[in-house]
Amino acid sequence: MGLTVYNTLSRKKEPFDPVTPGKVGIYLCGPTVYKPSHIGHAVGPIIFDAIKRYLVYRGFDVTWVVNITDVDDKLIDEAAKQNTTTFELAERITADYLSAMKTLHVDGIDIMPKASEHIGDIISIIETLISRGIAYASGGDVYFDVTKHPGYGKLSNRRVDDQEGQRDLQSGEKHNPADFAVWKGAKPEEPDEVKFDSPWGAGRPGWHIECSAMAMRYLGDTFDIHGGGLDLIFPHHENEIAQSEGATGEPFANVWMHNGLTRMNTKKISKSDADPEMQAALAKMTLHNLLDEYSGELIRFFVLSTQYRRPIEYSEAEIDSKRKGLDTFYRLFERIERVCGNSPYEMANARSDGKPAPCAPNECPAFETACQELTTAFERAMDDDFNTAGAIAALFDFASAVNRFVEQNKLDTGASDEQKCNALTATSRLIRTARLIGLFIEPPSENSAGADALGSKAMEVLLQVRQHVRKKKDFETADLIRDLLMEQKITLEDRADGTIWRVE
Ligand SMILES: [Zn+2]
Repeated sequence: MGLTVYNTLSRKKEPFDPVTPGKVGIYLCGPTVYKPSHIGHAVGPIIFDAIKRYLVYRGFDVTWVVNITDVDDKLIDEAAKQNTTTFELAERITADYLSAMKTLHVDGIDIMPKASEHIGDIISIIETLISRGIAYASGGDVYFDVTKHPGYGKLSNRRVDDQEGQRDLQSGEKHNPADFAVWKGAKPEEPDEVKFDSPWGAGRPGWHIECSAMAMRYLGDTFDIHGGGLDLIFPHHENEIAQSEGATGEPFANVWMHNGLTRMNTKKISKSDADPEMQAALAKMTLHNLLDEYSGELIRFFVLSTQYRRPIEYSEAEIDSKRKGLDTFYRLFERIERVCGNSPYEMANARSDGKPAPCAPNECPAFETACQELTTAFERAMDDDFNTAGAIAALFDFASAVNRFVEQNKLDTGASDEQKCNALTATSRLIRTARLIGLFIEPPSENSAGADALGSKAMEVLLQVRQHVRKKKDFETADLIRDLLMEQKITLEDRADGTIWRVE
């Protein structure tokens, strides 16, 4: 069975069939760069980065666009509060966002267009809409007339007379309450850098039209996948469809994919959440702060451990539980390196030839069945609406198989070169398969999650001291060291070939 994707438009899973065979265009609504991103803003990029990697593995030539909204009411307000320009604020927040994306190994974004650099495209769509009688100028603003577009409401299943969610109320006169602004006339108090010339006087685009213009500029009038959070279905995505299809007369995106929202304390986190308690909690959860505390790989693993359409429950306990899961893999990789004398990461690099490749059973006879099962289960999960949670479950099963092999053949206490080679090859296969969703791209920078380079060196010294006192049969001191470390959540494990440690 081929790849199937859940489409919000049809409310069912459909076989994936790109507009141009072999090519895939993806547009994901990006950040409004007015304040630091929080965990919720990382979810879409992490998911779509994994999706892109998998589509590339499946042989597609993928173009992935993520826009930067740098013209918006929120930016104007925040820049005024900070006594700076919208330009400076947008640059600063964009740089912060990009550095977080790098740490999360979100490497696959091809184009990041800025709204402020596409004003010409936006004006030309608005002119077409006006010439077709679907939009009208009024008091310096331009509005989209929702009654003139028959398909309005098809994504969100709403009728035109539903009026909630309007964020575009302006000074101009609207024909219908549900009409929304595609162009907003400049107000005298607004800064000059957000006043763009247009046939309707100085002003700036509405948020929705920015995405329509940038998506069609880079992916064409009709493209494959448009993504975003569930909270964007209405009005943002509904309005994107209306504007784009109203202007071109062609379908806009064929598949609409929406990821579940991040929840904390059973509250959903959304852009509009003004609750002060939630705002304070969110400030603590900025990507910047989270990435100081947790590795980018842990955050990525945490996000991908849930199927993308489900809500992500965020809490420290949840992150800790995922850290234990991730440590299962790290411990296996450390064990294999110690037993076999070679890094499975390096072997995975050497064998992949720069191309993603799955576990290949014929290269690894001792793991033939397990390899086959890994590949089958991984692909089955990913082909089923990109179920990364199922793909990760397949990785866990394979890690268990390798650990069993190591134990059954007593590799920790010495083994034949052939057995070592089997274990090393199998582990490098595991890494290569995980890389298809952007995991284990490189070894964790710490010895164990949570420790920095200095901490690792200090641990080495401490273990040598403990080894020294044990040789002198001073077991009381050796146990004291172990217990004191345990209080700091550092666990020691004495093995035949030495002592290893890890942070719980
Ligand atoms: Zn958008």
